[in-house]
Amino acid sequence: MKFSEFASYLQKLESTTKKLEMVSILKELFSKLDEDELPLACYLLLGKLRPDYEQVELGIAARLLLRSVAKAASVSETIVEKELKEKGDLGEAAYELLKNKKLKKLVFSRELTIKDSYDTLLDLARMSGKKSITQKVDALVSLLVDSSPLEAKYLVRITSGELRLGLADMTLLDALSETFLGSRDLREEVERAYNVYPDIGFIALVVKKHKLEGLKQVKITLGVPIRMALAERLSSAEEIIEKVGVPCAAEYKYDGERIQAHKKGNEILLYSRRLENITHQYPDVVELISKNTVAKELIIEMECIAIDPDTLEIRPFQELMQRRRKYDIEKVSKEIPVALRIFDILYVDGEPLLNLPYIKRREILSHQIIENDFAKLSEMKIVNNPKELEDFFQKAVDDGMEGVMVKMINSDYQAGARSYRWVKLKKEYKSELTDTLDLVIVGAYRGMGKRSKFKYGSFLMSVYDNKNDVFKTICKVGTGFTEDDLARLEKVLEPYVRKEKHPRVVSNMEADFWFIPKVVLEIIGAEITLSPVHTTSLNKFKKNAGLAIRFPRFTGRLREDKEAEQATTEEELEKMYQEKLKKVEE
Ligand code: AMP
Repeated sequence: MKFSEFASYLQKLESTTKKLEMVSILKELFSKLDEDELPLACYLLLGKLRPDYEQVELGIAARLLLRSVAKAASVSETIVEKELKEKGDLGEAAYELLKNKKLKKLVFSRELTIKDSYDTLLDLARMSGKKSITQKVDALVSLLVDSSPLEAKYLVRITSGELRLGLADMTLLDALSETFLGSRDLREEVERAYNVYPDIGFIALVVKKHKLEGLKQVKITLGVPIRMALAERLSSAEEIIEKVGVPCAAEYKYDGERIQAHKKGNEILLYSRRLENITHQYPDVVELISKNTVAKELIIEMECIAIDPDTLEIRPFQELMQRRRKYDIEKVSKEIPVALRIFDILYVDGEPLLNLPYIKRREILSHQIIENDFAKLSEMKIVNNPKELEDFFQKAVDDGMEGVMVKMINSDYQAGARSYRWVKLKKEYKSELTDTLDLVIVGAYRGMGKRSKFKYGSFLMSVYDNKNDVFKTICKVGTGFTEDDLARLEKVLEPYVRKEKHPRVVSNMEADFWFIPKVVLEIIGAEITLSPVHTTSLNKFKKNAGLAIRFPRFTGRLREDKEAEQATTEEELEKMYQEKLKKVEE
């Protein structure tokens, strides 16, 4: 097919937002394409050259694209800029400028086919190295010179990653089903194949050549990410239990980045929730997976979280995201180490597991993971009623989680779909903490792991209740302390050590050591949450719950200038909690 004909289909698609109309335009287009062209057209329709996980990006800076348009239209870059400003889109600008030029020229040098254009764009994407910038501009200019204004408009849009046809991959699946299977009745079969092999070009070719039989043969393949299962959300334990039935499995909902890992012998590939290949971002995850999994080949899913290497406490999502901003990946993986909480297994040594019930997959998973602090299964409990779920939820929140994931124990893994097989229960309200707090040490816990050489590894902190003249617990903190800090605190706390809890301390928690409330530390945290464990504002906002600090961290400031009675008060904290209280958005 000539690219000009393809471009006129793009134009038709652009002019409608109705899905049915799009499907019928696509059907007409698909039936005219031969086997070589169909996959290419499918990628181009989505504004891509290859599936996302192959990371083939055109990688042309906006400036260079503008320069190419200027050269092809034989005008200055300023003129292109002006046209761009007027039209708001470089594709339209190219259309106008080339129209003017071609009116004068009349003869086109050669007629482009879909394949010519696609191949040129793919070559362009694969050019790298020092000379590649000029090469890319030259290749693009020669493509644009050969194209009609309409062709140029779409080539420029595809190149700039802004095709904007409003076409979803699901619409293409509909059209493929209608064109090659005769109707949309078998659309689910196309989708099933696409969910386990989300390469639109490949699926298109399979349906065209081998119809339904071919689709049934499409299998999980290592190195091709499976579209991930998604969760629904409900707002109470009762609703969830009613929906998913009992018994069901409740898991901690970790706040990190979802990763699907493929292990193929020594090769490990990591995919993000959007199915991008993110292997290069996480050399430490690659290492964890190769060391901590048993089978030669497997596909597992997990949440990757930031972890404090000294205390092994989970750190907030924002800390994990800091890795993105840094370039020296080896260094950053030491500064911000990660841990894996693995929650599903989809494939092992040639066996697809998607259709097995959750509980069976979980069992298989437990045999495949060699657990340690850095790689382990997600925390899970089988619950039988709303009360048990509620308790597990509170425990999760208290451990710094954003909530829980509840899973039907007999359900399969629903690739690519949001369903009630998984339901999330998140904290409804969140109160961001922007100020630092001055908290009083009332207890401590023995140092463990790297901290075993210190007497205290983490501390039980409190606020001051000035009405009753007592200290109420608010959090445990182990993050933010340097070795010097810990050595110094051992000395500072020496005179205040007690065998038992001090009578002015109100705590439901046990501690390894107790102190007279004297020493004040400056602490920052991510938010103030409700917790069943701490005694600050107990029963004030919710029955059997008090306030707590989520993700507390020592700022490095020992407030020797402050008396314990000058620390942050319970009243102040309540005010902060109420002022910043916000409904959590989806
Ligand atoms: P949301 O992003 O709020 O829709 O929640 C779904 C996400 O929660 C998943 O995509 C995972 O990244 C994440 N998640 C955290 N813990 C779990 C878990 N135990 N099971 C499944 N997903 C989890």
